[in-house]
Amino acid sequence: MKKICILSFIFLVTLSFSWVGHSYFTYLIVFSTPSFDPNELVQITDYSYTENRKYTTSYSTSTVFDFLEFEEFLKCETTSAVFFDESHNLSKAHQNQLPAWQILATYVYYPDLGIDTGIADDFIGQLAVSTAKAIGFNVNRSLRHSVLKYGTIEIFGAHESFIHFVKMSQLAKAKNDRYWQLRFLAYALHYIEDLFAPYHIKLGEWYETALIPFDRNMISYLNTYHTICDNYLLFLLTDSAHSEEVRKIIQSAKPIFISKDPQRIADEVLMYTYVNFSALHSEIKTTFAEALKTGFSYDLFKEYESAGKLDRLYERILPIIETMSGVVKGIIQTFN
Ligand SMILES: [Zn+2]
Repeated sequence: MKKICILSFIFLVTLSFSWVGHSYFTYLIVFSTPSFDPNELVQITDYSYTENRKYTTSYSTSTVFDFLEFEEFLKCETTSAVFFDESHNLSKAHQNQLPAWQILATYVYYPDLGIDTGIADDFIGQLAVSTAKAIGFNVNRSLRHSVLKYGTIEIFGAHESFIHFVKMSQLAKAKNDRYWQLRFLAYALHYIEDLFAPYHIKLGEWYETALIPFDRNMISYLNTYHTICDNYLLFLLTDSAHSEEVRKIIQSAKPIFISKDPQRIADEVLMYTYVNFSALHSEIKTTFAEALKTGFSYDLFKEYESAGKLDRLYERILPIIETMSGVVKGIIQTFN
């Protein structure tokens, strides 16, 4: 058990540097969503569903993690300090019950543990994956965590993933299966949070994307921008001089109700991220132009922040964080 905990910790830290630090962000959200009781004790029930969406529950990203070990990991206390404060440690299920917050804040992370690895839903998606692989761009895990649109062509399907799991959550609700209602909802929240991440909906500007087949550096640049952006929010949540302010913004964000139709919610979020893409992308390029030559590392955020180099990027990203917080709270309330 101890071995699992230590390996879990390493594995989690490695993967936690995604756009939102999904678990920590969602943890802050569930404790500040009006009329949602995070401490409600929920009886764990067995999975009893038939889904028309294929995904795996044995993690191909790691031989250490299989489904059962992940269940153990959720109850593993040594990992709690990574995401949660001291008053809300992850705990073992007591009498086969878990608090609602723990189900949402931990399972929101689950889709990043490889459940979508190597799965494409459509022909264009599969073609895009093999092409990307051929030019050395690994998109395996992110297939269903992105939506890339080129004119009328749309590939991958984070929005479809969101819609599917909202529907599953509502199906569980109709069966009075509270545990799976929340657990499916947690998966759905993952994908909608991903849709707020600029580089999950665009690789770059159209002219940059068009250069990919001809300029090998371009894919590496775009990949680095993506990494920078994904890491920046985690930095803001945990290591920045602004962390307290950012957490307060998340906690005090008012719920935003878009619709009861998950398709509409996904469409609106996609549009929002499209509208914000160019300004954010341009700011990231300007700020990290030097880092592209010397190499990006997470420590650069601290250095750049102290030197005042992140001020404009911070101003630009704050409203996005606030909107995302409001929308996620609205979704929890709508489908609770
Ligand atoms: Zn994701």
